[in-house]
Amino acid sequence: MASPTDTGRDEPGPGSQSSLRAANEQRIITALRTAGPLTQAELSRRTSLAPSTVSGIVSILSDRGIVRAGDEPGGRKGRLIHLDLEDRYVLGVELGNGHLSMALATLSARVVEFVRRPLALGADASTTLDAIELILRDMLSSVGASHTDLVRGGVAVPAPLDVHGILSSSPLIFPAWAGVDIAEVFTERFGMPFSADNDANLGALADYLWGAGQGSHSMVFVGMNYGFGAGIVLEGTLFHGATGVSGEIGHTTVDENGEFCQCGNRGCLNTVASINRALELLAPIHPEIDSTEKLLDAAADGLPPAIRVVTDMGRASGVAIANVVNLLNPEVIVVGGDLARAGDIFTDPMITMATRLSMPAAAGVRLLTTPLGERVFALGGVALALGLDAPQSTLLT
Ligand SMILES: [Zn+2]
Repeated sequence: MASPTDTGRDEPGPGSQSSLRAANEQRIITALRTAGPLTQAELSRRTSLAPSTVSGIVSILSDRGIVRAGDEPGGRKGRLIHLDLEDRYVLGVELGNGHLSMALATLSARVVEFVRRPLALGADASTTLDAIELILRDMLSSVGASHTDLVRGGVAVPAPLDVHGILSSSPLIFPAWAGVDIAEVFTERFGMPFSADNDANLGALADYLWGAGQGSHSMVFVGMNYGFGAGIVLEGTLFHGATGVSGEIGHTTVDENGEFCQCGNRGCLNTVASINRALELLAPIHPEIDSTEKLLDAAADGLPPAIRVVTDMGRASGVAIANVVNLLNPEVIVVGGDLARAGDIFTDPMITMATRLSMPAAAGVRLLTTPLGERVFALGGVALALGLDAPQSTLLT
């Protein structure tokens, strides 16, 4: 199923012809991935697309080397259409605050390359796209592929997107991309369809498919990076909310008269617990600790103020998690993101507080750290590019 943020190649936009074609291409690819080789008639029945539409799309996909007609003898039913899974690729991109990460995977969801690189905090869109292009060139070359072997892409964005995939609700949260249709910009730059979603949503999707959340009925992924965000998967489907901004727990109010938040409100959770806040707290005594990696290194090296601030963040995130547990009663909560990489000094106080403040009936929730580590958000981009955000396609991955 196509994401609401899909855009087409030529005339991007939710309602355009090219957007419709990209969505239909994705339906065909998803049908072949989940059911195996099918005739065009079977594809038409499975996708509810007209036979002429299926024929046209199969022809386009065949020209691009994504599908091929089998060698079986022809007959009344026609040849089986196969998906060429292993020599076509999708790209997952995480736009981080201060870093980029990218995962290259085959259409069968086998990850062949992962790269994480620092990027200047607040880097503008053009600088970011240039960096992505350079990294992508190296990634493709290392697997012996070319740009024409790329099929689709998915982008994880560290800010809320509206239902049209535009970062519009709070421009100061990720200012370099404010007001921009990110999927459209990527589609134009890289010449293939891209989709975009919030990073916590995509972290949830990746962990549900390939991480600790596999097989769960309901899970909440809590991403702990520069700010906090949650992605909610209910019965195999990402829950986006009415206007696309579900799970923004970093902007839940903890002190109505507290400090101003980037969202324009006051006293949000992010103003007391986030990497951004941790760096602000350390700045007067350790101004040299000015990045996520330096914070994590200082804590790992045993620097007391760094340990203290990471521990405080753990306690605050435990409070946030308890609120999520009491609100949604999920089967599993998975934490990920850079703060979760700090290890026990972060997760122990988090678990203590989450357990203490959860309703006893809900306290049986499994609280786990994603095994996908720093790759989780880029892998979410891969999952989005593969169309795995639809429940029917998660069954056979
Ligand atoms: Zn806020």
